[in-house]
Parts: sequence; structure tokens; C-alpha cells
Amino acid sequence: MAVKPDRLIRDEIRALSAYHVADSAGMIKLDAMENPYDLPEEMRTQIGRIAAAAPVNRYPDPSGEALRAQLLDDPCMPAGCDLMLGNGSDELIQVLAMALARPGAVLMAVEPSFVMFRMIATFVGMRYVGVPLEADFRLDSTRMVDAIRTHRPALTFIAYPNNPTGNLFERSGIERVLAAADGLVVIDEAYHAFAGASFLPELGRHPNMLVMRTLSKLGLAGLRLGMLMGASEWIRELDKLRLPYNVNVLSQRVAAYVLSRREVLDAQTAALREERGRLADALARMPGVTPFPSDANFILFRVAEADKVFSAIEAAGVLIKNLSGGHSLLRDCLRVTVGRPEENARFLAALDGALAATR
Ligand SMILES: *Cc1c(COP(=O)(O)O)cnc(C)c1O
Repeated sequence: MAVKPDRLIRDEIRALSAYHVADSAGMIKLDAMENPYDLPEEMRTQIGRIAAAAPVNRYPDPSGEALRAQLLDDPCMPAGCDLMLGNGSDELIQVLAMALARPGAVLMAVEPSFVMFRMIATFVGMRYVGVPLEADFRLDSTRMVDAIRTHRPALTFIAYPNNPTGNLFERSGIERVLAAADGLVVIDEAYHAFAGASFLPELGRHPNMLVMRTLSKLGLAGLRLGMLMGASEWIRELDKLRLPYNVNVLSQRVAAYVLSRREVLDAQTAALREERGRLADALARMPGVTPFPSDANFILFRVAEADKVFSAIEAAGVLIKNLSGGHSLLRDCLRVTVGRPEENARFLAALDGALAATR
């Protein structure tokens, strides 16, 4: 008898569409919040040496001990805080969800936010509750607190700054959420390097809070490294769900090296923050374009006819992200990652041409 997937695969999984990654071959790639800058030649050569010396025939250090210790040995890390490494922070979201997925448990996030929160809730069989932001993408903390009281989420994610909107929510609103929640609240600081604001120093004050970060947006997206910080009593339990050897030896060693040259990444992120300001100003000057304030390395903006504008920009060889047609608050919204000055200029020229063609 032929066994068909539809008889065995869970209905909610068959109903999902896979996370879509657009084909970017030959395009200027401003769709995925990557750091556009290469590492200096001298560092790339050193990475070659590190790769050559890595014992790839052996399993890696199971918990990435050396890299973990290096990350913890940072004056910004609060005392008594522990850290767990993930194969990207996506994996850490999955670990958190698996750990808290008691039957009927709720995973809550604001909407629009990072789509993996909802997808991973589905993967692990948690009930997902999305709480809409205000029309200008501020956190509606009253609505959020009401939803927390109604649904009692075991796990709540707040991206700070938020993706895809780019803004930092008001701290007082997040404090209200933390006070109201009797579940775990994870502050996802994927864009921390571009924001200059963090909840990490508050870890000691909120026993139900964890802070998550990633090296992806900082310039090491290809290595897949995320980290989760919090009280050791949380990390100890969560670490049981981490697959052994989740972070490979090349990622462990190359990240340790690149982070020992942190000033190089810091200079790149500083350049991107400046470039973000220039890009936002240029967008604000274009008739028919409304950019939203960003504390991240991307800018969300609204146009009159997003689908047409997106296609015209794509036809001009620039790939950004079309968010229109997703959440209703994102109607006619597009998101552009801040690139190198010449890439941003190409994008602005393509947008200008697209607007002229659709007018
Ligand atoms: C990009 C992103 C992540 C995922 O990062 P990886 O470490 O590359 O898996 C997590 N959260 C938010 C809000 C993001 O935008």
C-alpha cells in the first residue's frame, strides 16, 4: 500500500508554506538584513588558517565552551547570567518552544513581527496568539496586557527593535508586559548592534525574562550563531533540548576569532547606522514614500502600490522585501536592508524609476 504524506504528516504542517527565500543571483541583495561589508583581507586569510587547522574529523566541542566563555567575559554581561549557543537564534526560538509546549500552552507575539515565532509555535504544537501593534507600529501595551491575562502565554517574544517594522518599543510598555506575564518573556535583540538600547542589563530584575541575540545581522550570517542569555536556572533546563554538537567547529572557531577583532564589526555597524540616516532622509524626501523610523539595519516604508513598485525595483536588479499582502498593518509596505552607499544609491534610483513608472 502506498503511504501518502497527507495521511501521516500533521494537518497544520501541510497547511504551512515553507519559509520563502527569494532567488538573488545577480541582484543587489537588500532583502535579508545582512551586513554588506566583507571582512578585511588580512582577517579572511586568518580565517583560512583557522579552517585549515580545525579538526573536522572530530565532533566539535559539544557546547562551544571557549566561545561561550569569551562571550560571557564581556563587561556588558550581568553577573550571574548564563549563555547558551544556538545554530542561529532560530534554533533557540525552537528550543524555547519545545521546552514550554505543554498541551494547550500558548506562544504569544506582537503582529507584525518576526514570522518564525508563529511558524515555530506550529512546529511544536503550541497555540499561537498574535497581538496587533498600533497602526504606527508602537506596542499597544494595554492590549498586550489584556491578551496576557486572557491567554496566559507560557512564552512571549518581543523583538527589540522589531522586525519588520524597525522600531524600538517604548520601554515602559515592555516593563508592563514583563510585570503582567506569569510565563517566560524573551526579548529578541537580533538588531541590538544598530539600536543602542538593550534589556540585557535588566536580567537580574526580571526573573521571567531572557535576552536573545544573534551574530547574523552583525556580519556573520553564514556562520549561524545565536545566543540566549539569562539566569542559569533557565539555561540549565533549556540546554537539555539543544542537540549535541549543534554549533559546528568552523563556526565556533571562526566566530571566536572574529569577535576577538570586535572593533572591525563595530566600525562596519557604525557605518551602516550612518548610512541608515542618509537612506531614511532620502526616502522621506521622495514624494509618495513614507519611511518609518528605524533603530535596525533596515527601513520599512510605504508607497501607493507596493506590488508594482516592488516588481519594478526587482526588474532593475535590486532585491528588497515585499511585505504587502501579509499582515493588514503592512499594507503597501516594503522593507529595504541598509547596504553599502553605492548599493543604496542603486536602490534609490530603482525606486525613483519605479515610482515614475507607476504614477
Ligand atoms: C533575523 C532574525 C532572527 C534570526 O536570526 P538567526 O540568528 O539568523 O537565526 C531572529 N529574530 C529576529 C527578530 C530576526 O529579525
